[in-house]
This record gives sequence, structure tokens and C-alpha cells, in this order.
Amino acid sequence: MKLEDISRIAVVGAGTMGQGIAQISGLAGYDVVLYDLNADVLKIAQNNISKNLDKGIDRGKLTHEDKEKTLKRITFSDNKDLLVADFIIEAIIEKLDVKKELFETLESINSEKTILASNTSSIPITRIAAGLKFPERFVGMHFFNPAHIMKLVEVISGVATDETIANTTAELARKLGKTPVMAADAPGFIVNRVARHFYVEGLKVLEEGVSDVKGIDRLVESSGFRMGPFRLMDLIGVDTNYSVTESMFNAFHQDAKFRPSRIQQQKVDGGHHGRKSGRGFYTYD
Ligand code: NAD
Repeated sequence: MKLEDISRIAVVGAGTMGQGIAQISGLAGYDVVLYDLNADVLKIAQNNISKNLDKGIDRGKLTHEDKEKTLKRITFSDNKDLLVADFIIEAIIEKLDVKKELFETLESINSEKTILASNTSSIPITRIAAGLKFPERFVGMHFFNPAHIMKLVEVISGVATDETIANTTAELARKLGKTPVMAADAPGFIVNRVARHFYVEGLKVLEEGVSDVKGIDRLVESSGFRMGPFRLMDLIGVDTNYSVTESMFNAFHQDAKFRPSRIQQQKVDGGHHGRKSGRGFYTYD
């Protein structure tokens, strides 16, 4: 599949990441279906995309016509049958078995030419692709949060990924206004592997009582970071961030430097998932 053959994009998962990916795909002129199991999430997604486009208008980057056309191009649906497309980007929960099951279903309803991409933060692409009939058209397309703003996209090739598929994915990323960086398949790829210690060490400092959440964030932010580790975990989703650490800890054979924090686990267990749930390390309106 070449870039010019792509006209319809399906985004699976309308949470934190799927919303932004659908927005930029619609804005770039693609016919988009944004799918989620949860109809309430789809309503929130539609509202958030509309608000983000309004912000673009306020900043003079978009016109009212851009907004209208973009919203018209996106179908918000909980009907799996609509997930037939030229390029599919998965952004569902960070669990290997759930992702594998989804891709097996997608493979069964799509042509063998459809490119299947995962926005996973940490799960090896080779592992998700294992068991697929055509693993050569499977690729990692890792956006950063907020997806409609952050420029970087990691394009990850698993052992079976065809080079032309990775190249088309990078071209699509450029068409969506992003800067692609090619990466080989390793747990956490490039950015999450390096950045993991930002969260893990922040949580260790908290566990040891060296300072509190606000104190750690304030210190890190005053040294030049846009957000401290706790504010950033709330933005990412405390549950998603925890799943990424857990998956990297296991993928690196329980290397202690990636050990997940019990404080973070407790937040996840209690449903304190950050901004999206109204409460995480901080509380939100
Ligand atoms: P999220 O929890 O905000 O949203 C996930 C959505 O997937 C939910 O709305 C849920 O209803 C839906 N879902 C779950 N199982 C599904 C299924 N089987 N079929 C369809 N929908 C399903 O999660 P998120 O933060 O958007 O993360 C999604 C993916 O993107 C994860 O793999 C994550 O690692 C990755 N990612 C997240 C970030 C981030 O900062 N949050 C950044 C880059 C990549």
C-alpha cells in the first residue's frame, strides 16, 4: 500500500490518544472512523475534538470551514463492522492479549493490503504481530500526548515488518504534520525507554518520603521541564503509564530499574487515573 492509495483511516480506541489521532487524520483530509467499545467515550471524544479545533481557530491556525469539514469526515462509532479501512491505527489499552485479539479480528475483516499499526508505548511490535496471517503489514506508529500537538512519531518495525510498509507509515506521519523517526523493535522503543526513569525515579523519591507530589513537580518544573513527573502521569493517564512500566519491567526480565511503584498501583486500583477520571495525583474539575 502506497501513501496515495490511502483514503480511509480507522482509529480504534477513542481515549486520550485515539481522539487526537482521529482529529489530525480528519484535518489532513482522510475519511476517518473513530471506534470505541464505550459509547460514552465516543461522545467525550467528539466534544474534545470540537473544542481542540475551536482552539485552533482562536489561534488563527484553522478556519471555521476547516473545523466543519474535519468533523464531517470523522464517523464516531461503536460498530466494529465499520473498521474496514486502508490504514488502521490501534490506540486501545496497553495489554498484549487484548491488542492481539483485536488485530486478529481486524485482519479477518480487512483486505490483506490494509496496513495495521499499533500506537503501543511499550509492547514489542513483533509480539503483537505474532499469530497474524500477514505480519509483514504490521507496524508500530507511536504518537505522543497530546497527539494533535506533539510532532514526534516513532515508526517501529518488528522482525517481520516489510520495509515499504514502514516507509508508507512514515510518509503518512508526515502527511499528518508529524516528524517520523524510524526505530527498531525493543521494549519502550526509544523515547519511553529513556523517559521511564523520569516517572520511576519520581515515584521512588515519593516512596522514600524525600518530598511530596507537589514538591517534586515544582522542583523539576523550576529546573526547566514543562511538567513534573506527577503532573505528566496525570496527563498521560496513571493507568496507562503504570501498564507501560509494568510491560517494560517484564520485557527487561524484571530489571529493578523499571520496577513499578506500589503507590502508582494503588492509584490505578482506586480508579484515580489522572485528568481523564478527574483525579490522579492531583484533582481536576
Ligand atoms: P485510554 O485509556 O485513554 O483509552 C483507551 C480506549 O480504548 C478506551 O476508551 C477504551 O474504552 C478503549 N478500548 C479498550 N479496549 C478496547 C477494545 N478491545 N476495542 C476498542 N476499544 C477499546 O488510553 P490511551 O492513553 O489513549 O492509550 C491507548 C494506547 O496508546 C496505549 O497502547 C498506550 O500505551 C498508547 N499511548 C498512550 C499515550 C498517553 O500519553 N496516554 C502516549 C502514547 C501512546
